[in-house]
Amino acid sequence: MTVRIGVPTEVSPGEKRVALVPEVVQHLTKAGVEVVVEAGAGAASRYPDAAYTAAGAQVLSDRSQVFGTSAVVLKVQPPNPEEIAQMKPGTVVVALMNASRNLDGVAKMRDAKLVAFALELLPRITRAQSMDVLSSQATVAGYRCVLIGASLCPKFLPMLTTAAGTIRPSKVLVLGAGVAGLMAIATAKRLGAIVEAYDVRRAAGEQVRSLGAKFLELQINAEGSGGYARELTDDEKKQEQAMLAKAVGEADVIITTAAIPGRKAPLLVRKEMVATMRPGAVLVDLAAESGGNCELTKPGENVVLDGVTIAGPLNLPSQLPFHASQMYSKNLESFLTLLITKEHGLVTDYSDEILAASLLVSNGAVTHKPTADLLAKGAT
Ligand code: NAD
Repeated sequence: MTVRIGVPTEVSPGEKRVALVPEVVQHLTKAGVEVVVEAGAGAASRYPDAAYTAAGAQVLSDRSQVFGTSAVVLKVQPPNPEEIAQMKPGTVVVALMNASRNLDGVAKMRDAKLVAFALELLPRITRAQSMDVLSSQATVAGYRCVLIGASLCPKFLPMLTTAAGTIRPSKVLVLGAGVAGLMAIATAKRLGAIVEAYDVRRAAGEQVRSLGAKFLELQINAEGSGGYARELTDDEKKQEQAMLAKAVGEADVIITTAAIPGRKAPLLVRKEMVATMRPGAVLVDLAAESGGNCELTKPGENVVLDGVTIAGPLNLPSQLPFHASQMYSKNLESFLTLLITKEHGLVTDYSDEILAASLLVSNGAVTHKPTADLLAKGAT
């Protein structure tokens, strides 16, 4: 039986991405999948309805039909209560579910008997690399935050030799050299800055140096499980603060991206350190959404204090929606190869390691244990 996939317009404030771009729709329709797209779904990311039609999709102006008649609904943001109510029991919905901070939504999907896959739960194993939306969207965020820093900074980033004199290159400091941080380093290098970076995982040093940046190193290796960082001990935090104080005071642009899975972002730049920053210096805090790496960050705002700007941008991937959607969409295309097969159509056996790990809700139950535990605590 032909499987119907629905792609609605994202309605969360500020969300400009779309789950599928026409190129991927074409691959799916060629493979025999039916795709319905809400009219205007790609408009904010510059994919017109006509391109979806040309790719073989049916463009529907009735939003409730997209939700109500599709076996699989693909989204970027978690479905809101109205969207959940429009889906039939058994509908498979795939999105970034933000599970631990969206318990109410998870409970509603459970009660509506949907099958929900949370893309942020995909295991970071080699086979899942092509589906890894956290990496693709962090790549976009890492690029974008350097552009924000450069545009807020009153200086050039590159060295210039001109008839009007020589300009010294700016110094960019990147704290946290994971996926976003490495992209930030590469972008700042391309703009000609002198780049320094710091991470608590020793393995990050080699990657930082291979991009031509200097690695600031503490004599610790805080690599925890799954290649992620663990939280530092109090003593390690003191060493970290002492080392960072100097680098922070000398930087023109600071990009902070440090995160520890499932925890509040580590506090790296305290207000006393901001006070040592040069007038005109800029800090862009990519961790603004999860508590901030800087004590003075206000999510969604640019704070200016004594000439220093602290930017706390939210949903950075949405600020580059064309390519963020393209990458997200390719990730979904890869994920769908597990969910829809030539042999079985829409798969109902979720025992595959990748499906099992990302399955959040199924058969009226929350299948992801940490989220189920959180829900039980709140008794939602
Ligand atoms: P993340 O977003 O969880 O964290 C960002 C960075 O912050 C990490 O590099 C972390 O080490 C760092 N950090 C944490 N506490 C810090 C502190 N106090 N000071 C400075 N830095 C701190 O991480 P991520 O970008 O999603 O990736 C983390 C790791 O996972 C990397 O090793 C990456 O290569 C790996 N990864 C693997 C795959 C895969 O195999 N499929 C995919 C993506 C990422």
